[in-house]
Amino acid sequence: MVTIYLNLNNFSELPTLLDIFGNYDNDYEYTAEGIFRKKTSPSCPKCNIPMVHNGYNTYTKKGLGDVKIGKYKCSNCNCTLEENRSFWEEIKSVLFDSFNDFFQLLRYHNVSHKGISSIMDFIYPRSKSTILREFNKNMDQEKVPNVEYVYMVHYDEQHPKEGRCQKYRLTLLDAKTQRPLADELFDDKNSETIKNFLKKHLDTSKPVFIVTDFDNTYPGVLKEVFGDKLVHQYCLMHLNKLIVHDFPRKTSIEQELLKYKMLNIFYNREKEIDFLEKLLPEELNLSGDEKQYVEWIKTAKKQFNKYRHGLKLERRRKKENLTHHCLEKARTNFEDLMRNIRTYDEGIQKRLWMINSHWLNLTVFHYLPGSPATNNPIESYFSKSLKTDSKKQFRTDTGIENQIKLAKMKRAGMITKPDKSLLELFRTFTPFKV
Ligand SMILES: [Zn+2]
Repeated sequence: MVTIYLNLNNFSELPTLLDIFGNYDNDYEYTAEGIFRKKTSPSCPKCNIPMVHNGYNTYTKKGLGDVKIGKYKCSNCNCTLEENRSFWEEIKSVLFDSFNDFFQLLRYHNVSHKGISSIMDFIYPRSKSTILREFNKNMDQEKVPNVEYVYMVHYDEQHPKEGRCQKYRLTLLDAKTQRPLADELFDDKNSETIKNFLKKHLDTSKPVFIVTDFDNTYPGVLKEVFGDKLVHQYCLMHLNKLIVHDFPRKTSIEQELLKYKMLNIFYNREKEIDFLEKLLPEELNLSGDEKQYVEWIKTAKKQFNKYRHGLKLERRRKKENLTHHCLEKARTNFEDLMRNIRTYDEGIQKRLWMINSHWLNLTVFHYLPGSPATNNPIESYFSKSLKTDSKKQFRTDTGIENQIKLAKMKRAGMITKPDKSLLELFRTFTPFKV
């Protein structure tokens, strides 16, 4: 056991010091001046004669403290040697590793890097860029078991009437086989009904990928039923419907263009946008002439509808669906819209903020091979014609990819409580406090 010479300042730190130096044997000492070294200097690596104590080097970690590491000198050849300071590196890395776990946990709860930096100001200041760098480095090293099996399902409701009686049809569809798993009629559709329905038909202890529409009750209900096992995708087709509804039935070309730019966030509507962009200058030219405009817009909209119809027929001929944009493209398209958000009507602004806050739930399908982005299969099931949603693209977007990895880690039980609190870890440094 290392010999520890206490002084007036550190005599209360004995337990901490014993803990830190626990692995060193009786050859070592921690002097009253706080120098860590061998009691008897080692032999010179060159002349093999015993060296002598020769002061120390100081190593400082800002805000934590500093250590004095003993030096040895050979009186024959003047060569010097420094004691190994691995104990110091060790206690630092234990603390900083714990910070990294803390960052991960905060990221899991969607705290931004900037937010984490502000929180760290209360604990141990770290800049946003340091946090980002450490977090990404750490996430790169995380090995998540890749054999995660995620069951994929669609969930939807219909509200049919039975005579005068309002009924609720709850349906679960297996995304792979496109076969119904459960299809039941209820008198109400409150949270309890939905919860019981899901629990009855799905294994809630296993990871599940579930596509739903935007009903406000779903996130809470699904979280309660599946907890961390949940991967929740909002139906993109349903989002498209909401976007279309945000605009009046009779739109100007300018409005139509904005509508298509919003639809173009997740689906490729570049052709429609090109078409509308060519019409836009004409519309702007006519802004003063009401009568002429009314005639013009009628024709313009007819042209556009004809063009749209042509594209639709072409897709049908080729047996294609609308294609998704890759993640980066979707993000860029979205950010382009957000840049001008102040210039849009309130309803449009709200929709964009809604997309922003649900971004993960709108794009999570990119990360699970073969997972669907829409509830089209269940819609088709309701209307009896079965179609397949194909075409998946996998690209990387570090931010969201790590977000998904974190969710995976949580499901795999890899995000756990720390062994020691940060306070306890800081306590390790008190003997070295300056
Ligand atoms: Zn020597």
